Amino acid sequence: MAADLLRHRHRPKTKESPTVSFESMWAALEPVGRDPRTGGYRRFAWTAEDHTLREWFAEECAARGLDLTEDRMGNQWAWWGDPDRAAAEGRQGVVAGSHLDSVPDGGAFDGPLGVVSAFAALDVLRAKAEQEGWQPTRPIGVVNFVDEEGARFGVACAGSRVITGVLDPDRARSLTDADGTTMAEALTRAGRYPRTVGRDDEALRRIGCFVELHVEQGRALADPDHPAHGHAVAVGSGIWPHGRWRLDFPGEANHAGTTRLEDRHDAMLGYATAVLSARRAAERHGCLATIGKVAVQPGGVNAVPSAVTGWLDARGADEAAVRAAVADVAGEAERCGATLTEESWTPPTSFDTDLATRLQRVLAARTAAESGTEPQGIPLLGTGAGHDAGILANAGVPTAMLFVRNPTGVSHSPQEWAGDDDCRAGVTALAAVLEDLAGESA
Ligand SMILES: [Zn+2]
Repeated sequence: MAADLLRHRHRPKTKESPTVSFESMWAALEPVGRDPRTGGYRRFAWTAEDHTLREWFAEECAARGLDLTEDRMGNQWAWWGDPDRAAAEGRQGVVAGSHLDSVPDGGAFDGPLGVVSAFAALDVLRAKAEQEGWQPTRPIGVVNFVDEEGARFGVACAGSRVITGVLDPDRARSLTDADGTTMAEALTRAGRYPRTVGRDDEALRRIGCFVELHVEQGRALADPDHPAHGHAVAVGSGIWPHGRWRLDFPGEANHAGTTRLEDRHDAMLGYATAVLSARRAAERHGCLATIGKVAVQPGGVNAVPSAVTGWLDARGADEAAVRAAVADVAGEAERCGATLTEESWTPPTSFDTDLATRLQRVLAARTAAESGTEPQGIPLLGTGAGHDAGILANAGVPTAMLFVRNPTGVSHSPQEWAGDDDCRAGVTALAAVLEDLAGESA
């Protein structure tokens, strides 16, 4: 962070200075689950690293005297104000936050930036309450959603999907990781009770609206040719439709050295055709298609493949275009004898348009007041990445996102990054938004 944030390394236990808190929180998280060889993070649900991150969250909560609650999936909620009493009076809470887990060899920002910024924004507002007498009319919450990336059990946003009832608890409990450990076993080993896992209406009732701040996954804000260029923070408009499909190519195992080419039934050839067809279909229909995972049987260098399974990920701004691209890949794959199975499909998610407009207005006014210039339009960006914000939006919670500029445009990699000034701009923006939303009378 910037130099003035670095001056105070020792923070008081009970009273945070907002300008200090981001830096000290970031420094505390930095080593957790970091692979020294790759510089990437391996923070998977219900592992020792995850436990450390959850302890960190609980400590940050305790240091501020916030009430910590956990819902039926173990998502952590830190509350300033009593969310149950307020909800009973029709003043539901304003919640910010994100997730602390990562993909394999993920970056430092995807997830943690949202959680750390939420605590730092809360500190800004608590200082304002103390110094200027500002009081929120709604409780403010900070959330850490568990298992957002789905890196261990294969289902993204498992924490928010379970509590909203989108992911059946029996299915969640029986999901397995690469070692064959079920989620139920992982929960038990983490000292939890898998039987309590399930939809949690009580937790949902406390949320009046949810704002997830996230590092931008893409480089619209950093691209001089993009209309959003020049801004450190954008407001999210929605999440593209996306899906996953499994492609199974049959073949026949045989010796690589003794089987004549004309006698082979090589599953890999059909798979190779599908990979190329996915690329061409994506170009043709103006969307994205990726085959990034493959399993080969029997998997010997000197054996003709008897079966190849590939996984196709397709997404794009336009639902019909994505469907058309997948249909093209399916046609090509079926001509090679393959079958295509849809494993998941998520329709487009539109965030609450009134809320997005309100965020744009608040941020434009704030930027203008700070710089003494005319208010400038705050950009509105869609994203191809899934988020807990999307799950909550689809469950009927008024939801918004803020994206913080990422100069590399890279995410799910150690290259993912946001500059000190932009992180600070994100905290300032989030604080302004929370102040506006929590200051509203019932
Ligand atoms: Zn994320």
